[in-house]
Amino acid sequence: MGNAWLKYDEKETQTCMEFGKNYMEFISKCKTERVCVKESIEMAEKAGYRDFKEIISNGESLKAQDKIYYNMMNKSIVLMHLGNDPLEKGMNLLGAHVDSPRMDLKQRPLYEKDGLVYLDTHYYGGIKKYQWVTIPLALYGVICKKNGEVVEISIGDQETDPVFVVSDLLIHLASKQLQKSAAEVVEGENLNVTFGSIPVKEEDKETVKANILDLLKKKYNVEEEDFLSAEIEVVPAGKARSCGLDESMILGYGHDDRICAYPSLMAQLQMENVDRTCVTLLVDKEEIGSVGATGMQSRFFENFVAEVFYALGDYSEIKVRRALQNSHMLSSDVCAAHDPNYPEVTSDRNMGEFGHGLAICKYTGSRGKSGCNDASAEFMAVLRKLFDDNNVSWQTSELGKVDAGGGGTIAYIMGNYGMNVVDAGVPVHNMHSPAELCSKADIYEAYKGYIAFLKECK
Ligand code: MN
Ligand code: MN
Repeated sequence: MGNAWLKYDEKETQTCMEFGKNYMEFISKCKTERVCVKESIEMAEKAGYRDFKEIISNGESLKAQDKIYYNMMNKSIVLMHLGNDPLEKGMNLLGAHVDSPRMDLKQRPLYEKDGLVYLDTHYYGGIKKYQWVTIPLALYGVICKKNGEVVEISIGDQETDPVFVVSDLLIHLASKQLQKSAAEVVEGENLNVTFGSIPVKEEDKETVKANILDLLKKKYNVEEEDFLSAEIEVVPAGKARSCGLDESMILGYGHDDRICAYPSLMAQLQMENVDRTCVTLLVDKEEIGSVGATGMQSRFFENFVAEVFYALGDYSEIKVRRALQNSHMLSSDVCAAHDPNYPEVTSDRNMGEFGHGLAICKYTGSRGKSGCNDASAEFMAVLRKLFDDNNVSWQTSELGKVDAGGGGTIAYIMGNYGMNVVDAGVPVHNMHSPAELCSKADIYEAYKGYIAFLKECK
C-alpha cells in the first residue's frame, strides 16, 4: 500500500518507464481487437507458442510445458502454457478484453449530402458522444469480398495518411445546441464521418461520391457493395503520449482494456517451467455485454479446454468441469481512478488512486452490487499474501460512490464455472473517452502482480 513511486530506486523507476514506453508502442499500433489479436499472435509465436488449430488438424498430442494459442475468429485469443500438474487441478487465468469503445461503420455507410461525402456510423460501447467530434480519426478493419479475398484497412495513423473527423457546430451558431443536455448535444445518428469533397465533373449527380468510389476501387479494389461484408472501426488517430512534466502518466486511446491485456500478455509469455497451467484470455465484445461468438459468454474457452484434454489423451467431461472449477482468475479491467476535479463521485477510502498500484475490485456492479462477481474473502486473503510477498503495490477500489452509477466486467461470467475470480486492473481517468489517462507505475505494478499470480497462485 502507499504510492509506488516512493519505493522505486533509480533502476526500478527506469524499468517502470521502459515498460510504459513499450506499452505506449503497443496501444499506438493496436487500436482494434483484430489488430490486438494479430499482434499477440506474432509476439506469442516468437515466445514459442504454436497454433492449437494446427496441432488439432495434424492430430498431434500435447504434453506439459507446451505453449499453445487459440485464435477465435481473429477477435479473441487464448494463450495457454501447460503446467506439470494435471490440468484437472485447475489453471491460473488472466483475462482482459481487447475491444474498446469507438464508432463502427454501418453496413451501408457511404452517402453524399450537399457536396460532401460521409460515412454513417453506429457507436460501439458506452460513449459520451460529444467527446468524439472535432478530433482526428483513423479507420481500421476488414472488407471481405465475395471471392473470399480480405482487404485490410488501416488509414490515419501513418504520417502520410489522411485522417477523418466528425464535425461539430461552431460556437457562433450554437446558442440553441448549448441549451441541450450533454446526452443530446451530439446525437448518435449525427456521428457521421467526413470522408471527401472533390466532385467528378462528368457526372451530374452524387458527383463527390462517384470520385470516392473511384478512389476506393483504385486503392483497395473494392466496390460500394463490399461494405455489406465489412467491419470497419473509427478510432482516434495518433499515438499514445507520456503525460505530465514528470512523464509519469500515459494519455492514449484504448487503455480500457489494453492496459490490462498488454501486461497480462507480457507476463504470460515469460513464464517458464510452470506447475499450474497458465492461461491468458484476451477477449472481444466486453464493451457491449460480452455477447456473441467472440465474447466471454461464448463457450469457445470451455470448448478449447475440452480440446486440450483431448489432445493430452485425457478427455472426460468431469475433468473439463473440474479444471474450470479448480481455476483461479484475475479478471483484469480498468477501474475509475479518483479524479480531484470530480470528488463528488469518489467513494472515500475505497477508490483507486494513480500511483498506488494494481487495483483489486472485490465487486463492481451498480444499484447494490447488481450484476457483479463478488469475490470471496478467502480468495482476497490469498491474493493479499501473494502480492505482499512479491512486493507488488496494490490497492482496493470501487467504481465510485454508491448509487453514482456502475459497471461490469467479464468476472461474473467466469464465476459461473465456480472458480475463484476477482477484478484486478488499473485505475484510469477519462474512461471510454478518446484519450484515457493512466499512471505508468500502475501498469508496471499490474505486470508484476500478474507474474506473481501466474507463477505462485495455488
Ligand atoms: Mn473494460
Ligand atoms: Mn469499458
